[in-house]
Amino acid sequence: RAGVPKRPDWLRVKLPIGPEYAKVRKLVDEHKLHTICESGNCPNMGECWGAGTATFMILGNICTRSCTFCAVATGRPNEYDTDEPRRVAEAIVLMKVKHAVLTSVNRDELKDKGAEIWYQTVRLIKEASPQTTIETLIPDTKGNWDALERMISAGQEVVSHNMETVERLYRRVRPQARYERSLEQIRRTKEYGQRTKSGIMLGLGETQDEVFKAMDDLAVNGLDILTLGQYLQPTKMHHAVIDWIHPETFAMYKEEGVRRGLKYVESGPLVRSSYHAEKHVHV
Ligand code: SF4
Ligand code: SF4
Repeated sequence: RAGVPKRPDWLRVKLPIGPEYAKVRKLVDEHKLHTICESGNCPNMGECWGAGTATFMILGNICTRSCTFCAVATGRPNEYDTDEPRRVAEAIVLMKVKHAVLTSVNRDELKDKGAEIWYQTVRLIKEASPQTTIETLIPDTKGNWDALERMISAGQEVVSHNMETVERLYRRVRPQARYERSLEQIRRTKEYGQRTKSGIMLGLGETQDEVFKAMDDLAVNGLDILTLGQYLQPTKMHHAVIDWIHPETFAMYKEEGVRRGLKYVESGPLVRSSYHAEKHVHV
């Protein structure tokens, strides 16, 4: 695209190769599991998978929503796999995962929004591997607060829900989501007593003031941990990269976030919501 400079040097990373990476990939395939690392084509796969960490995506790989930054296919989901929680737990044992990150597609067509599968997955991991800590990066339950409570009450250590972008860009970036509803979900998660986490992608066309406003809104609603990273376009069909945010700007946002009342801010070009997630258990 004319006008958008080429990817800056600080975003060039190593290819995901190495024996540990290959081992994880084999296990994931054998257990018929999906990972957000692969579907999002995440640049950190070499590092995370090499360290025996992966983010499992449960409830299938077809999403009822069509966020314009996301590489997951949109459509009518075709699986409701009640054996999936068992397979995820088994893979986590075999991979000796110390900290597991779970996420899912949105299942708006299900009455419980997938809450029961979420609950069972966390329970079975905790039974099979009690020392493994768990972060659940949960979808928007569309205001179904019973479903939310079920999802967050299974004994996980961290509950994330990504805001993804600033309020003004919701219509273009997360068309089926509502900014206020996602904030409310975070507030209710905090009130329930959970450690709360969220993520925002930068470079989608937001202004700095809009990022500050989002930080204030999140702090007021009880957010503990915020991750900020550079948005990368998965294919030409997806939302364009409007800006490459400089590492110094990321550093400024980190300071600003803490100043505005967030407990912990992870901020940098390659930061993803699941990046360095093991540290967030102790925040
Ligand atoms: Fe996977 Fe997250 Fe690591 Fe990327 S940062 S490879 S999505 S665990
Ligand atoms: Fe992708 Fe999640 Fe949006 Fe579905 S709800 S399109 S998985 S970001």
